Amino acid sequence: MQMWTILAEQIANATGERFQLCDRTAIGGGCINQAYRISDGQRSYFLKVNQASQLAMFEAEALGLKEIYDSHTIRVPKPICWGIADSSAYIVMEWLDFGSGNQDSWYQMGQNLAAMHRVTNPKGFGWDRNNTIGDTPQQNPWTQDWVDFYREQRLRYQFSLAHRRGGHFPREDELLSAVPALLCGHDPAPALVHGDLWSGNASVTQAGEPVILDPATYYGDREVDIAMSELFGRFPTPFYQGYDAAYPLDEGYAQRKTLYNLYHIINHFNLFGGGYGSQANRMIDQLLP
Ligand code: ADP
Repeated sequence: MQMWTILAEQIANATGERFQLCDRTAIGGGCINQAYRISDGQRSYFLKVNQASQLAMFEAEALGLKEIYDSHTIRVPKPICWGIADSSAYIVMEWLDFGSGNQDSWYQMGQNLAAMHRVTNPKGFGWDRNNTIGDTPQQNPWTQDWVDFYREQRLRYQFSLAHRRGGHFPREDELLSAVPALLCGHDPAPALVHGDLWSGNASVTQAGEPVILDPATYYGDREVDIAMSELFGRFPTPFYQGYDAAYPLDEGYAQRKTLYNLYHIINHFNLFGGGYGSQANRMIDQLLP
């Protein structure tokens, strides 16, 4: 059967409502997948398609969206269905119309993200499954100790991938050994985090409601999201005001920010190469005495 017929059937099964696809429009802007708006004239959905080998990535994205959706704290597109159709992997989710937002929307984004960060997990740091960050694998085995989790599953893992790409980090071992000292005295709760919160993954609907997209969900130190929101151009100031009013950051965040963003910069080296390797080395120099 043709992909579009299968998709229409799957959407109808998942929603319990008839869906006869009559319009599909390609959407640009994504880094990894082909994206479409699909519609039956009344209802619209957002569809991403990739090679069948990428099914696990879509599954993890759908379950990550569901984890956040079910927290009732911040809006994410509701995942509808995912799987294989005509040899392609796909994910279908709620279609959202984005607008430009205003100061109030960004204040609310901060408040809602803080509410999401109040959701914790007794199993500790990690998640029930591995997922991806960009399209780099991200390992999430449940771990009680944050220092251990961050050092092993985040930094060491990305370093090991970077070696395969020819990355050279002269002070890598020194940095890994210094992680306990850099996080000394910090005792974060395992908070539900977005995991990849740069400005491309935060938006506002036409009705002014804040939305986060494309998560790399796990339970971790909430500061990882705030740190990343400051990495590639800060979010609008009201976002930080709203967050801080709801859930002030712990002392020492400014130092930890560089440690947490190092993960994303090594990942960028793994995804794009180029100058991200030297940027990572500069960050390591900043962190070490
Ligand atoms: P990729 O996983 O390939 O990076 P994205 O999730 O970033 O793709 O989405 C690509 C584009 O589609 C972005 O410009 C984004 O604004 C838009 N988009 C993402 N999710 C939705 C949605 N649920 N409804 C409408 N547009 C969306």
